Amino acid sequence: MSTSMGRGRALSSPLHQVDFWLDPTSPSHPADLRVPFPSLQAVKIFLESNSISYSIMIEDVQELVDEEKRAMMKSRRIERSTRTFDFASYHTIDEIYDWMDMLVDDHPSLVSKIQIGQSYENRPLYVLKFSTGGSNRPAIWLDTGIHSREWITQATGVWTANKIAEEYGQDPSITAILDSMDIFFEIVTNPDGYAFTHSSNRMWRKTRSINAGSHCVGVDPNRNWDAGFGGAGSSGNPCSETYRGPYPHSEREVKAIVDFIRGHGNVKSVISIHSYSQMLLFPYGYKTAPNELAKKAVSDLAAVYGTKYTYGSTADTIYLADGTTIDWAYDNGVKYSFTFELRDTGRYGFLLPSTQIIPTATETWPALLDIMIHVLEHPY
Ligand SMILES: [Zn+2]
Repeated sequence: MSTSMGRGRALSSPLHQVDFWLDPTSPSHPADLRVPFPSLQAVKIFLESNSISYSIMIEDVQELVDEEKRAMMKSRRIERSTRTFDFASYHTIDEIYDWMDMLVDDHPSLVSKIQIGQSYENRPLYVLKFSTGGSNRPAIWLDTGIHSREWITQATGVWTANKIAEEYGQDPSITAILDSMDIFFEIVTNPDGYAFTHSSNRMWRKTRSINAGSHCVGVDPNRNWDAGFGGAGSSGNPCSETYRGPYPHSEREVKAIVDFIRGHGNVKSVISIHSYSQMLLFPYGYKTAPNELAKKAVSDLAAVYGTKYTYGSTADTIYLADGTTIDWAYDNGVKYSFTFELRDTGRYGFLLPSTQIIPTATETWPALLDIMIHVLEHPY
């Protein structure tokens, strides 16, 4: 359901039972919400009595979840019988971790796998390192899946990591980038949450840490960074989807990246990939906003299939959100910090059909190259 509502409207209403897929931002901007069936009538009455217009995007979320599961099973059978990896399918964490080892085996002089820590539930936090040599070269950090339900991002991460490996030595841009810089790529950035989206709740966004004194589980790992922590756009309530956590970097998944980037000391760019909304965002604090670069990236993206992205600073384009990855990176000297919000704009939301994985990844690739080439050519 997509609605237009004013900011700050009291939520002492049926709305406290809904799952916001897209938060309310400013009046006249739509919000997307998933309404549990038992609350449907109450929510409709609430919206109508407040003169908030709405439309139905997805009649039955369960139907899409079932369809997604069927598609995964089918592709898994084919993968097993043909011993291939299907980039057009969603995969479990075990399948993605196995695929990482295959990628390393196939490209041993370019790709290696490093472990930067462990998740709350003790899963390894793996990062793929693409390097042609040198020591402590300038580096680009990429992450997908910090919000676990944003499945198109991990799937795009897998396709993109494969593309980097395959195109080195073929494509002049990625070859030039890797001849001078390293790329670090964390594909399953929130492994506990991702495992939970497969085992129990497809709509899980947060980490899986237990919150002292609350029956609600998990912290929003994109509100947990030490950048305006506790400010607008996050919640102090452990039951909220945007719960910031008890203190900055409380989440092991976040702390591991902080320690890695600090320890590395030469990370020039952080690109954190989310869904959905079709946006390219950069931190608010930029003295000279990288508008030209963002404009080129989204126009090269649109040139592939006509997919339209908006771009700008996070605060101007979507909403105030403190404690985010790219604000922290920017505050810590990483000059080129960007967030992608991949497809779509709400037709399927987090349940983007797997037939859109390869198109989404394919169109995002030139935009990523634009940013990486810019970093290569503007190291200071
Ligand atoms: Zn996200």
